[in-house]
Amino acid sequence: MSIDVDQLRQGNRRALAKAITLVESKKAEHREQAQKLLEAVLPYTGNSIRVGITGIPGVGKSTFIESFGQTVIEQGKKVAVLAVDPSSPIAGGSILGDKTRMEELSRMDNAFIRPSPSEGALGGVALKTRETMLLCEAAGYDVILVETVGVGQSEYEVASMVDFFMVLMLPNAGDELQGIKKGIMELADALVINKADGDSLNMAQQTRRHYQNALHLLRHTSFWTPQVKTCSALRKENIEEVWGMISDFQIDAIKNNAFHEKRARQAQEWMHKLLHEMLDLKLKQNLEVKQQMPELDRQVTEGKTTPYLAAKLLIDLLFKAN
Ligand code: GDP
Repeated sequence: MSIDVDQLRQGNRRALAKAITLVESKKAEHREQAQKLLEAVLPYTGNSIRVGITGIPGVGKSTFIESFGQTVIEQGKKVAVLAVDPSSPIAGGSILGDKTRMEELSRMDNAFIRPSPSEGALGGVALKTRETMLLCEAAGYDVILVETVGVGQSEYEVASMVDFFMVLMLPNAGDELQGIKKGIMELADALVINKADGDSLNMAQQTRRHYQNALHLLRHTSFWTPQVKTCSALRKENIEEVWGMISDFQIDAIKNNAFHEKRARQAQEWMHKLLHEMLDLKLKQNLEVKQQMPELDRQVTEGKTTPYLAAKLLIDLLFKAN
């Protein structure tokens, strides 16, 4: 599969789509080509704001992205929408991919929407999304939206790959009803209460005050206090304010040297995570380790050897073989 880096950099959508397909491929030779491509585009990456969006099904994520994307494009920007979809192996289907979504946005020249990769080998789907973000940046996308639903680890993974992490909420006050995990609130740079319209307007304001108070107890960085906003994605109300908040964040983060620092830290953490996963894979694929494992498992459970000694023996086997 040959990818024209110049065409990709000029924003050619076909070149971008092809490059993403290469990155998502599980074939070993594609993996190598993909890494070469990523290395080639790396100097042209980094010039975007990456925004993570999460929230329970039905909160209005697609509707919000549809409105928000259009608002941002009206400001002269290019928007890419990616998804980390923790599709359940039991249900088989994906949560984010199976509806007709963001119809208006998807027809706009300056929007690029990519559904979630169905599965990932090393690093899971989150790795593919990280690499896809780099390709989108090289193709000139200024705003990259990464959407996920609050299932499993996906929210944590998305929070660790974006500059700004936002939780969409419903106007019904109280954490219990929101189905939001506690830890997630602490990662949020903003809570946005959607569906602040019609009969729900009052409740939305009440919910905003509730979280405004609660946020005082949460994480603050040196330069940013998490914000609570209300909006109506359906009526396109207050969407510009949400974008304004995100641009303010970007300006402040750059001014405070925090923007690049955070990205550098994320890249480093990503490398360490991959290293662990690669080691793990090597362990699982090593024949001698595979052979010895059941016996050592038995010895450990029967108290015949210590877990430390068993682990040490397996590690020694792995490195002897290499
Ligand atoms: P998702 O599952 O989080 O992607 O949610 P959707 O975007 O599919 O929205 C779920 C439902 O909520 C749809 O029927 C939307 O029309 C509706 N919805 C989304 N945003 C708003 C809003 O701002 N106000 C109102 N009243 N309804 C909304």
